[in-house]
Amino acid sequence: MTQTEKPEVEDITLVPLEKVVSLCKRRGFVYPNSEIYGGVAGIYDFGPLGVELRNNIRRYWWWSMVQQHDNVVGIEGAIITHPRVWEASGHVENFVDRLVECKKCKQRFRVDHLPPENLERNICPNKDHGELSEPRTFNLLMETYLGVIEGDRMKTYLRGEACQNIYLDYDNVLKSSRMQVPFGICQIGKAFRNEVTPRNFLFRQREFEQWDLQFFVHPNEMEKWFEFWKGYRFNWYQSILNHKDRLRFREHGPDELAHYAKAAFDIEYQTVLGWQEWEGIHWRQDWDLSRHSQYSGQDLGYTDPITRERYIPWIVETSGGVDRTFLNLLLDAYEEQPDPSGRESEIRTILHLHPWLAPVKVAVLPLQKNKEELVTTAKDIHANLKRFMVSQYDDIQNIGRRYRRQDEIGTPYCVTVDFQTLEDQTVTVRERDTTSQIRLPINELVGYLLERVTWK
Ligand code: ATP
Repeated sequence: MTQTEKPEVEDITLVPLEKVVSLCKRRGFVYPNSEIYGGVAGIYDFGPLGVELRNNIRRYWWWSMVQQHDNVVGIEGAIITHPRVWEASGHVENFVDRLVECKKCKQRFRVDHLPPENLERNICPNKDHGELSEPRTFNLLMETYLGVIEGDRMKTYLRGEACQNIYLDYDNVLKSSRMQVPFGICQIGKAFRNEVTPRNFLFRQREFEQWDLQFFVHPNEMEKWFEFWKGYRFNWYQSILNHKDRLRFREHGPDELAHYAKAAFDIEYQTVLGWQEWEGIHWRQDWDLSRHSQYSGQDLGYTDPITRERYIPWIVETSGGVDRTFLNLLLDAYEEQPDPSGRESEIRTILHLHPWLAPVKVAVLPLQKNKEELVTTAKDIHANLKRFMVSQYDDIQNIGRRYRRQDEIGTPYCVTVDFQTLEDQTVTVRERDTTSQIRLPINELVGYLLERVTWK
């Protein structure tokens, strides 16, 4: 990413980051890691609701990238690999950030994130306009050591990008599955980078999660598959957004392209942080498999079973971030409305999360807590629903407040058990975004909800 992490346009409709950070802490989506010890910059933990949302995001990706394609399979690689991997990949040599420091305010900036005018004039983008120091270079790989005996310990790295495992396992997948080129391998996994300027909550962390597809093709078919996956991934993000117009492609200019790449596009999303990269679509050619063939001494070529042609497959890569998805979806979904009760102090916060991804799918609420029959019926409904989806039972405070609590965490449906339920076995189902309510027989609830909260 080459742009500054500052908004390009002032847009008052963009949700301030602090609102989402505060909601995440308050309602148990995300916590600062090791908070009782003062925290660690750029590292976060996910709470009870966060882990549900994260799992849903990951599962939806896996379902649409792996399970919906006969020519794509998945792997799960280890975080630690042989250190030579990172020499072959070029990370030991080239995975660096150049950093400057303002001599007045002491803030540090990545050189590639500085606005061009500040770079040219060598002055800080903050108000003080201090002079910037000479750039210093830092390698982002996180080092670790295998073994316990001093002298016998091997230095290696926590993986700086998850996709290397795919190249390492590519030959094993070919030999152990019935895949033939063109085919793809997917993986979701943690990556670690000693980011010199971790900031903006989940946007730039030191430990984060990536999802990758590496799609192996014959060179003649590269263009076709590049276009296919580029369009597919764009539509995928659009399908889960409310503000679809805040998504765009940005093509890398010639000076940004890696030497092996003919083309690269970022899928960018506009938030209060500006237009920022969410996922990269890269034309990687035969670079990765050639480098690993060269460094490992193992020929990673492929023989076409029909033509017998032998070649190194070319690769289309789609590489995005689970955490940026998590953050962007919350920024996209967050809305504050005046409370319908008219009380100025009360604000209705709603998360318009797609029902497929919402951490809690349904809440079951007895109208009153002190009426045993209402409570028993509601608990029975909840017990049945939770066999199929994440359901919450809640009887604390009045019904309006309970609706608000669910709106705030994005629960798409609330089921209320009232006195009519006891007479005719129907309940009200309230929909989050419209607040409209319908009455449904209890025995139709599971089907009604599954139809709406299951992806398709
Ligand atoms: P950037 O330029 O923002 O540092 P990058 O171009 O180095 O990102 P890639 O190496 O292409 O990113 O990684 C693929 C995806 O992983 C990115 O599109 C982003 O969604 C995610 N990602 C990369 N770095 C981080 C990070 N430090 N924290 C959270 N997510 C990240």
